[in-house]
Amino acid sequence: MPIRLICLDADDTLWHNMRHFELAEKALERMLAPFAEGPAVRDRLNAIETRNLPVYGYGAKGFTLSMIEAAIEICGDALPPDAIPEILAAGRQLLAHPVELLPGIEETLEALAERAPIVLVTKGDLLHQESKLAASGLGDRFSGIEIVSDKKPETFTRIFAAHGVSPEQAVMAGDSMRSDVLPALSAGAWAAFVPHDLVWSHEATDAPEHPRFRCIASLAELPGWIDQIG
Ligand SMILES: [Mg+2]
Repeated sequence: MPIRLICLDADDTLWHNMRHFELAEKALERMLAPFAEGPAVRDRLNAIETRNLPVYGYGAKGFTLSMIEAAIEICGDALPPDAIPEILAAGRQLLAHPVELLPGIEETLEALAERAPIVLVTKGDLLHQESKLAASGLGDRFSGIEIVSDKKPETFTRIFAAHGVSPEQAVMAGDSMRSDVLPALSAGAWAAFVPHDLVWSHEATDAPEHPRFRCIASLAELPGWIDQIG
């Protein structure tokens, strides 16, 4: 059955994202260097982020709050007075960085658009994701924009229904095994994993053995796979 809907992740699938979070983490490590080793800061931050996800959700603002919590937990009463303003500045930078597209994205979107309507499916802070999409200049390439709090199988089920396709007529592609691939497969769709150099540990998990799953080296391989499915 041919593909009639193409769903794409945004962060680290269309444009760079993790590198900016890494810069903010490095800044936090430098700030807290007198109190803890870099790996210890990173581990503590990861644990706090995971603990906070159900409350703050995904995105740069929740991440900034988690950095503040990490600094407070690590430094205790010795927290330097300039630590919180510095963390807030790092968080603000995270919200304001320029959007850099991954190589060949515009050409790939053109090739995909010849095959089926494209829907952007992304999670994170609503305003931040909207701003990045506007700055990317890609807005008019999409038939739909879905900025969601989390990507679960039912998220994809709802999106497929809204666009009038059955799950086996839809494909989802992205750089997160946990958020892009597994829930789309569970919903009955095809799913392509497009690995990115930088992976947030929270999003990493084993590749599934699944007839509707494919790992592709870059998004440029997606149009060819879609043709094979059809
Ligand atoms: Mg992503």
